[in-house]
Amino acid sequence: MARVDISGRLAIGPDTGDAELVAAVDEWIATAVPGRWRSAAAKGRQAIRAVRSREEYADWYPAFAASGLVVATWPVAYGGLDLSPRQARLAEDRLAPYNLGRLNPLGLHNTAPALFAHGTEEQRLRFLPPMVANVERWCQMFSEPGAGSDLASLAMRAARDGDEWLLTGQKVWSTWAHRSEFAICLTRTDPSVPKRRGITYFLVDLRSPGVEVRELKHLGGEVDFNEVWLDEVRVPDFHRVGQEGDGWRVAAATLSGERQMVAGAGSGGVDRIGGSGVRRLVGIAQQRGVEPVMRDRLVRLYCEERVRGWTNDRVRATVKAGGTPGPAASIGKVHQSTLNQAIQMLATDMLGAAATAYPSAETWADALPYEVSGMLRSRANTIEGGTTEVNKNVIGEKVLGLPREPDPYHGCSWEDTPR
Ligand SMILES: Cc1cc2nc3c(=O)[nH]c(=O)nc-3n(C[C@H](O)[C@H](O)[C@H](O)COP(=O)(O)OP(=O)(O)OC[C@H]3O[C@@H](n4cnc5c(N)ncnc54)[C@H](O)[C@@H]3O)c2cc1C
Repeated sequence: MARVDISGRLAIGPDTGDAELVAAVDEWIATAVPGRWRSAAAKGRQAIRAVRSREEYADWYPAFAASGLVVATWPVAYGGLDLSPRQARLAEDRLAPYNLGRLNPLGLHNTAPALFAHGTEEQRLRFLPPMVANVERWCQMFSEPGAGSDLASLAMRAARDGDEWLLTGQKVWSTWAHRSEFAICLTRTDPSVPKRRGITYFLVDLRSPGVEVRELKHLGGEVDFNEVWLDEVRVPDFHRVGQEGDGWRVAAATLSGERQMVAGAGSGGVDRIGGSGVRRLVGIAQQRGVEPVMRDRLVRLYCEERVRGWTNDRVRATVKAGGTPGPAASIGKVHQSTLNQAIQMLATDMLGAAATAYPSAETWADALPYEVSGMLRSRANTIEGGTTEVNKNVIGEKVLGLPREPDPYHGCSWEDTPR
């Protein structure tokens, strides 16, 4: 039996020696990871996917979360093991063959950074453990029909009512709102000051009266984002993160975490949002052979992906050394999103005619080959998490030192600024 405490947490911590740590993680794997998955792991990641359904993984996941290994560097009180980044990497190396992906990415990458940087201890203790266990799933409600790239012009109102706030307005493109319990949400609390100053950041329980979630369909037929209407939804003041009017600063912690996730410098990446990885394509080309032009495209993309990996390593190293990723996250986001689109397009081209022939016109979305749905999904990569154009503005201004984009309404109040 692996050495675990009564809650299932692995008995390792910052003082555990390397050999002991590795042995404890191996023991935990041997007892906690189902035997079928372990046997499949010997044959590679694809084999694990073949024997393990998403539902089965989600059912098993609380045991993984209880071990503390999901967020090994976080404090024990929030669901982690308080390990150093180096110790966590050792543990991660042992877990890697079993492909134990983290669930609730918008909680871990978008909500948690804001709570760590600007939340209270009570908020962290209340919200982080159920987030790690995936029993409270999170989504992000920032964008609105009139506020995407220019997010600071957002209009959802929040008005104080004693110990509560009343939220009214519309959000859009809220990924996974239809299967989340909570959302991080930006609201306008003071329209009389410049747009970035009158914003307040809330944690909204989507099960509250007055919340309506409507699903939107992707190009490839799948649903993963939504429109969300809030009509006088009551939110306790305990769910406000940061000071009233300081939500823009809190949002910066979220947006930086999001860019790292989308760029692949965090634990996820757009290459993991469906579709094919370049290594898989290399494997296929080696087996089946490809014609020279295709091979040339493949080699170029392979090289580019290596470069992206090194850039992400630099961002990770900066973060681990206590720095902030800053504009480097924008560079990664721009590069990775276009690179992933090129990889998914090549995967589709490698299918040849099979990429255009589906069994039934009625169920075409379900019948799409994996490569084609990945390619269609990848079109969003240059929009989600901040568009390529807007990230290029950030790179121009913050990296290249070019003049700022002109803003004729700089200093005007939100209510006096045209939208
Ligand atoms: C798949 C997907 C998932 C998403 N998930 C979420 C989510 O979970 N939560 C959430 O809050 N939002 C989400 N979004 C929204 C996303 O953040 C916005 O779509 C994005 O910020 C762009 O905003 P917009 O769609 O309003 O486009 P707009 O801002 O209207 O932009 C339209 C076009 O104008 C260009 N443009 C705009 N401003 C400038 C400028 N200053 N300089 C140069 N070009 C400019 C843009 O690059 C774009 O090409 C998601 C989007 C997608 C596609």
